Amino acid sequence: MERHENLKKIIGIPRAISYYNNYPFYHGFFKSLGIEIVLSDKTTAKLINDGAKHVVSDTCLPIKVFVGHVINLLDKGCDTIFVPSIQSTGYKINNCSKIRGLPEIIRNVINKPFEMIEPTLDKTEGLGIKEFCFETAHQLGIYDEKSINSAISSGWSAYNSFVEMAKSGIPHKEAVENAINGNYTLKKLSLVKPFSVVIMAHGYNLFDERISMNILGKLDKMGIRAYTSLDITRQDGINSIHELDEIQYWANELDLTGTAAYFMLNKKIDGIIALSAFGCGPDSLMVDEIQYHANERKIPMLHLNIDEHTGEAGFVTRLEAFADMLIRKNRKKLLQQNKCRNIEIALNKQKVQEQNVMTKVK
Ligand code: SF4
Repeated sequence: MERHENLKKIIGIPRAISYYNNYPFYHGFFKSLGIEIVLSDKTTAKLINDGAKHVVSDTCLPIKVFVGHVINLLDKGCDTIFVPSIQSTGYKINNCSKIRGLPEIIRNVINKPFEMIEPTLDKTEGLGIKEFCFETAHQLGIYDEKSINSAISSGWSAYNSFVEMAKSGIPHKEAVENAINGNYTLKKLSLVKPFSVVIMAHGYNLFDERISMNILGKLDKMGIRAYTSLDITRQDGINSIHELDEIQYWANELDLTGTAAYFMLNKKIDGIIALSAFGCGPDSLMVDEIQYHANERKIPMLHLNIDEHTGEAGFVTRLEAFADMLIRKNRKKLLQQNKCRNIEIALNKQKVQEQNVMTKVK
């Protein structure tokens, strides 16, 4: 491999924003180039506060979290950090200005010396994955074309196996772990649950257990099957948006509108949960759009809007109220199937556990 004398051997990757959808690709790519990866720690309250202190208060939670993760990497002594600028993921399919300008935000709010690896993905301007990867490698001091192409293949291989595993029903975290460790396994059986909902949310909100308050685990305990963007293909999402007579504009739209639209149109779901960030313009437009179509189809919808002050108790109460409403709405059907009681028992059990936790906290 042809290496430049300024070759960087270690790169820090913030566990935020594009990490949640793309980490298997990043891992396969950097490892193949011989670059060691340092990940920031999992999101904590301290990490969110550290990030929030550096930006203006009306910045959305995911950006505050991203800044917190960069600070965490710097605290770990990492001086080369991956901060991509993902402008558009298709022709005129754009990200919000904060994700597009992420390197600029970081440069302006962090006053410490470190190097940013800041490639641009902008399919509207003809800068696709290949150009993005070559720019990344060049900034790291690697110029050998064959090695970079081979690293791109390794990235895709890890990413594709992650997608297949996640689609088979393996939870996000486990699918990521398996993909980066080269373990390939598919889930063969999934338990049938009495209710199912679809969650429309950015991967960086839904799969960050601190931001999402582990909503997936909570729904699972309530006996509710939750579908996410990992359960559909890219094409499913695009087709479903068109079927609703809507137009895709935002890069993250398949995780929100596309996912909700697909399940609304193609599967029997009992409800829709929108998990969005306070102060996010794209989220509010997409949630309104889906709310309109859900109302037309009489599908119940719960909108959970989160910021760094969102408390777990209130969050859980709203989730439980939604689950109670689903039970009431379907009580007759469920009693016939003898399933209602099991759900109520599960809900009551969870309420007792949470009351115990709150008593301990007090
Ligand atoms: S899409 Fe919304 S939540 Fe995500 S970074 Fe942009 S403004 Fe923040």
